[in-house]
Amino acid sequence: MPSLRDLGEFGAIRLLAHGLREGPGVVIGSGDDAAVLRVAPGRDLVVTTDAFVEGRHWLPEWIDPATLGARLAAANLSDVAAMAAVPRWAVLAIGARAGHDAQALATLQEGLARGLADHGATLVGGNLAAVEGGEWLALTLLGEVERGRAWTRSAARPGDLLVVTGFPGRAGAGARLARALGEAARGDEWRALLAAWLRPAPRVAAAQALLATGAVTAAIDVSDGLLGDLAHLCEASGVGAEIRAEPGTADPWLARAADTLGVSAFDLWVGPSDDYELLLAVDPAQRARCEQAAGAAGATLAFIGRFTDARGAIACLEGDGSRRVLGSAGFDHFARG
Ligand SMILES: [Mg+2]
Repeated sequence: MPSLRDLGEFGAIRLLAHGLREGPGVVIGSGDDAAVLRVAPGRDLVVTTDAFVEGRHWLPEWIDPATLGARLAAANLSDVAAMAAVPRWAVLAIGARAGHDAQALATLQEGLARGLADHGATLVGGNLAAVEGGEWLALTLLGEVERGRAWTRSAARPGDLLVVTGFPGRAGAGARLARALGEAARGDEWRALLAAWLRPAPRVAAAQALLATGAVTAAIDVSDGLLGDLAHLCEASGVGAEIRAEPGTADPWLARAADTLGVSAFDLWVGPSDDYELLLAVDPAQRARCEQAAGAAGATLAFIGRFTDARGAIACLEGDGSRRVLGSAGFDHFARG
């Protein structure tokens, strides 16, 4: 298979541009100096960007190119979902070595475009740069939300319910198992954890369904870990939170991983993990409505606690009624170790 070096810069760009599609709102797509996009009247434009670095955000031996592309799409889609926006258009920048198989790169981009298309967004352009060391990918995603209706991290109120979609902690557990067990982590007994790590499902549809209820007061997506992202939300809102230990320790997948890794299931549940789930503050009077709306959009909601007026303090309520104060142990990319 030809490498990028074999094709040359313009040959490689032609190959990648071939995979770009026209989409709604695209006035001028790929092939010009920039894309021209048309935002619907009465809507705010929402912008996010996420970069993946080889060895840090992906391990080449654990993820194939199409799945990697879809995972980068999911990371960005999740941020747009956390703002209650509808994803629309994206541009992809790639830093690749000259020896990179050109078709593998096209397959990666195809996986990414498909991941976007699954949620109504279109890849409209990109850029290719040659690198000598580690490779990287940077996606910028634009979305739209009705003017003034974007969710933020800063409007949670004491008394609001603390709610999370899906099963946080599973992605981090999958990554830890892969590092600890090597090939054995591909076994069927770890299937749900590896899938959460490699094939996360961004909560775009659930966010739209929940937006329609009007019950969500604040939101963040879980990209660092439940506790770390909860701390960000509490800080931005000037509130504290109490979480119940039980929903996390009751997840049988986490319990099994905890046994194997020699850590607690609770620590896996709240610790570093890029799950791309949504963490929400919800009006307590609207619990049933939210459950119904999220369920209709294919997402389960776990009601894991509530927000308090103890600014910045996060406490855990154990099954026996005891209470302990937690630190905020999310994933810090610049931390040592
Ligand atoms: Mg985020």
